[in-house]
Amino acid sequence: PSTMSEKEAALAAVPSDSPTIFDRIINKEIPANVVFEDDKVLAFRDISPQAPTHILIIPKVKDGLTGLSKAEERHCEILGQLLYTAKVVAKQEGLEDGFRIVINDGPKACQSVYHIHVHLIGGRQMNWPPG
Ligand code: IMP
Repeated sequence: PSTMSEKEAALAAVPSDSPTIFDRIINKEIPANVVFEDDKVLAFRDISPQAPTHILIIPKVKDGLTGLSKAEERHCEILGQLLYTAKVVAKQEGLEDGFRIVINDGPKACQSVYHIHVHLIGGRQMNWPPG
């Protein structure tokens, strides 16, 4: 069915370009368990892990990228950096046998934070199709 369950509706947020909790993490106003950082990207552990390893990789400057569906040509470099960082962190986390990358986009994907982020999930057997 295309309608969201109550749980999914509770998880999803209304799309918006307003500052999010991730800005407060970037600005060190709230703590995060940071596993990788450079001048462009930040990677930290998800507060509600769905697997033994669950890390979020985000751009330090959002530049309108609330989600992948808002990507423009100018975002190609940062999008590449997010994915490359996922690979680097996967290795750092010892995920030699496999890992999953997820980008939720929009209410139907249960996106809850409108600052683009790549989920790096691993450390257990994944299933397909995803939920
Ligand atoms: P989305 O559902 O793809 O938008 O993913 C947002 C993710 O951010 C969820 O997996 C949340 O658990 C995670 N999250 C929300 N707030 C925090 C936080 O303060 N620290 C770390 N992760 C968070």
